[in-house]
Amino acid sequence: MKKYFFTPGPSQLFPTIPKHIKNAVDYNIPSISHRGQQFKQIFKNTVDSLKKLLNIPDTYYVFFLSSATEAMERIIENCVEKYSFHFVNGAFSKNFFQIAVNLKKTPSKVEVDYGSSFDFKSITIPENSEIICFTQNETSTGVALDPKNIYSFKKKYPSKLIAVDIVSSVPYINLDFNLCDYVFFSVQKGFGMPAGLGVLIVSPKALEKASYLKNKNINIGSYHNFLSLLKYQEKNQTPGTPNVLFIYLLGKIIDNLLKIGLKTIRKETEEKAKLLYDYLGHGPYLKPAVKDKNIRSKTVIVAEVYGGSKPLIKKLADMGFIIGGGYGVNKEKQIRIANFPAHSLAMFKKLKNNLDKLK
Ligand SMILES: *Cc1c(COP(=O)(O)O)cnc(C)c1O
Repeated sequence: MKKYFFTPGPSQLFPTIPKHIKNAVDYNIPSISHRGQQFKQIFKNTVDSLKKLLNIPDTYYVFFLSSATEAMERIIENCVEKYSFHFVNGAFSKNFFQIAVNLKKTPSKVEVDYGSSFDFKSITIPENSEIICFTQNETSTGVALDPKNIYSFKKKYPSKLIAVDIVSSVPYINLDFNLCDYVFFSVQKGFGMPAGLGVLIVSPKALEKASYLKNKNINIGSYHNFLSLLKYQEKNQTPGTPNVLFIYLLGKIIDNLLKIGLKTIRKETEEKAKLLYDYLGHGPYLKPAVKDKNIRSKTVIVAEVYGGSKPLIKKLADMGFIIGGGYGVNKEKQIRIANFPAHSLAMFKKLKNNLDKLK
C-alpha cells in the first residue's frame, strides 16, 4: 500500500528525491573525494542556492553539521562564556536550555505552559545574557512565534546575539537574517529529505564571538568548532568527511523549490493549514490544541482527540496515512500533522476526508 507521511519529521519525501538519488549514484557522488574539485563545486552550489532561497546576506556563513541538535550544542559551546537566555514553551526549546546546563554554562529562561506563547512586552533579559535563544516553531506543541517579536529583542538588546531554531518552519518562514546571528535547521522536515544533515547559518558577529572566547582561553570545543568550520568553509569544504550525498541532495531540492518559488510555497502552505484548521474548528471530536488562533503554527498542526489519539492514529495508518502522535505527555491525547512543501493540497484533502470518515 502507498503510504503518505504527515509526521513532523522525518516526513514525506519531496517528490523529486528518488530521481536525485538515482542521478547521484549514476554520477558517483557518494564515492567522490570530499577534498576534490567536484565536491567543492557541489558545496558551493548548495550554499549559493540556500542563500538565494532564504535571502541570507552574503556576509553570513553556512555550516554543515549532522543535526539541528548539534547546532544547538555548537552555538552554546562556541559563543557562550557563561550566560545564555532561553524562551521555553515546549520540548525543543527546553532541550536547547538543557544543552547549556549540560555544557556547564549558567542559562536562564522564561518558561510558559506548553501550547502557549510569551507575553513578549513584559519580558526583560538579564543584563549579563550573551545570547537569546528562540524556537520559532515549537514542533512539540504547534506554537509559532511571530518573527517581529524575535526582532524586537535584537532592537532592544543590540549587543546580544540572537539564535533562532527554524527546523520545522523552514522554508515557509520568512526571516530577516540581518536581525539574527544564528539560524539553524535539519533537512528531514521542511526540505523533505531523509535525516542526517544539519545546517547552521551564522553572522560575522557570531563568529567574532567564537574567536574572542578562544583568545580568552575558553574551551570552544574541537570537533566542528566555528573556527575550524570557517577555515574549511572558505575552501568550500568541511573539517571532516561530510554527508556528501545529502549536501548534493539539498542543493537539488533547493533548486526545485526556487523553480516553484517561495511565494507559491508560502501561499500553498497557508491554504493547506486553513483547510485543516477550519475542519478542526468544527469539533468536538477533534479540535485545535493551540487555543489562540494567532500563535498557531502553519507547518505543524496539533489537535486534541476526544477520548485519546491512539485509535485514530492506528486507523489512519491502516489507510496508508501516517500522522504523528502528541509529544511527550500529550502522546496519547493529541495528533500532530506536518504541512511541508512535500505535502500537496490533494494529499491534505484526502487526509481531511479520512479524518472525517473516522470521526
Ligand atoms: C526536530 C527538531 C529539532 C531536532 O532536530 P534533529 O535534526 O533531530 O536534531 C530541533 N528543533 C525543532 C523545533 C525540531 O522540530
